Amino acid sequence: MSVNIPRGTQDILPGQSEKWQYIESIAKDVCRRYHYKEIRTPIFEHTELFKRSVGDTTDIVQKEMYTFEDRGERSLTLRPEGTAAVVRSFVENKMFGMADQPVKLYYTGPMFRYERPQAGRYRQFVQFGVEAIGSEDPAIDAEVIGLVMDIYKMAGLKKLKLVINSLGDAESRTKHREALIRHFEPHIEEFCGDCQMRLKQNPLRILDCKKDRDHELMKTAPSILDYLNEESKAYFEKVTAYLDAVGIQYTIDPKLVRGLDYYNHTAFEVMSEAEGFGAITTLCGGGRYNGLVQQLGGPESPGIGFAFSIERFIAAMEAEKVEWPIDKGLDCFIVALGDAAKDRSVSLVHELRTAGLSAERDYQDRKMKAQLKASDRQHARFTAILGEDELTENRITVKDMAEGSQDQVPLNELANYLKTKMEAN
Ligand code: ATP
Ligand code: MG
Repeated sequence: MSVNIPRGTQDILPGQSEKWQYIESIAKDVCRRYHYKEIRTPIFEHTELFKRSVGDTTDIVQKEMYTFEDRGERSLTLRPEGTAAVVRSFVENKMFGMADQPVKLYYTGPMFRYERPQAGRYRQFVQFGVEAIGSEDPAIDAEVIGLVMDIYKMAGLKKLKLVINSLGDAESRTKHREALIRHFEPHIEEFCGDCQMRLKQNPLRILDCKKDRDHELMKTAPSILDYLNEESKAYFEKVTAYLDAVGIQYTIDPKLVRGLDYYNHTAFEVMSEAEGFGAITTLCGGGRYNGLVQQLGGPESPGIGFAFSIERFIAAMEAEKVEWPIDKGLDCFIVALGDAAKDRSVSLVHELRTAGLSAERDYQDRKMKAQLKASDRQHARFTAILGEDELTENRITVKDMAEGSQDQVPLNELANYLKTKMEAN
C-alpha cells in the first residue's frame, strides 16, 4: 500500500523551496529595518487558548481546528493562527514589564485549519506575521501596515490593494451591533444557518459571510463608520493621516470586518489585483486587538498585528509574473577522470566548500561526457576538469561557462582563482 500526502497539504520541493526562502528572507530583512524581533512559540497549544482568544463563535474554533487529546488527556490544538500564542507568551513571560514598549515581534511557521482545500486554501499553510503589543499610538498602526506593504514592495509586487476600516472601540461596537440586529432580524430566515446563529452572538460577522454576501440586506447594512464615537473617529483619522504621511495608498471599506473576535479599531487587508489570481484574493489580514492581552490574563496592553501566508504570496508573485532573483547555486563542478583524479577530487571539492564556494563532483562513476552534461544541467558557473595529466602536473583545467574561456590553474590555487573571478563580475 502506498501512503500519500494528507489532503490540503503540500510538499515544497527544491525549485520551489528557494522561493519560500526568498520571501522569508525579504520579510525578515524588512522586520530588521522596522526593529521587530523574532519569537518562536510551540506548534500546539492548549485548546482553551484559541477558544478564549480567537472566539467560540468563529469558523476557526467551531469548524477548523485540529484538536486532539494527548496521552495525559489534555486537549491540545495545532495552532490555527499566530496571534493567540504570541499574546499568551507576552503574558506568560511578563513582556509587559519590559522597559521598551511596545514589544515588537514577528513569527513564521505552519498553521493548521481544517478547511475545504482549493487554490490558495490549504490545511497546513505557512504564515508570516507581526505583532506590536503595548502601545495605542495610531503611529504604530501605520507602522505595522507600512511594514507589510514594504515586504510586498521589496518582493516586486505592484498590483495590490490595501483596504482599511475601523471597527471602533467597545462603545461604538455596541451601538453598531444593536443597529445590525435591527437591520437583519426581520429577514434573518433568508440567511444561512451560520448567520442566524451570528445574529445574536456576533452580528458583525454576518458581514463577513461568504454564502450570503450577495443578499440585498448586505448592501444596505448599517456602516460601522456611522457609529464610531468621537474618540474612535479621531483615532482612525490619525491612522489614515500617518499612512498619507508615508505615501501609502489605501481604500476605506466600511464592510471590512475580520473573522476573529478579538479585533477593534483598525482592521485591514491586502488583496491582489493581478489578473488570473483566482477567486481568493486576500493576501494579508490584520488589525488592532486592545482587549486581548487582558483577556488572556495580562494587564491592559493594546496590540496590533497582521499575518499573511507564503502560499498566497507566491501565488501573487506568479500571477504578476515577477522575476524570482534566485541564485541557481552551483559555483563549480569538478569533472574527474581516472581513479587517481577521482580520489583527489574528494579533498578538492572539500577545499572549495571550506572556502565558501558551492561545489559538486560525480558520485555515479560516470564517463567524461556524462559528467560534463551533469555540470551543465546543474548550471555550474565553472567546470573544473581533473585528468591524469593535470594531476601529475598539479594543475586543473577550469572552464568559465559564462565567458566560454578556459585556464590552467595550479591545484592549490583553485579556490582563490574561482573566488577572484566571481568577484570580478
Ligand atoms: P480567508 O477569508 O481567506 O479564509 P482568513 O480571514 O481566515 O482568510 P486570517 O485568519 O486573517 O485569514 O489569516 C491571514 C492570512 O493567512 C490570510 O489573509 C491568508 O493570506 C492566509 N490564510 C488564511 N487561511 C489560509 C489557508 N487555509 N491557506 C493558505 N493561506 C491562508
Ligand atoms: Mg478562513
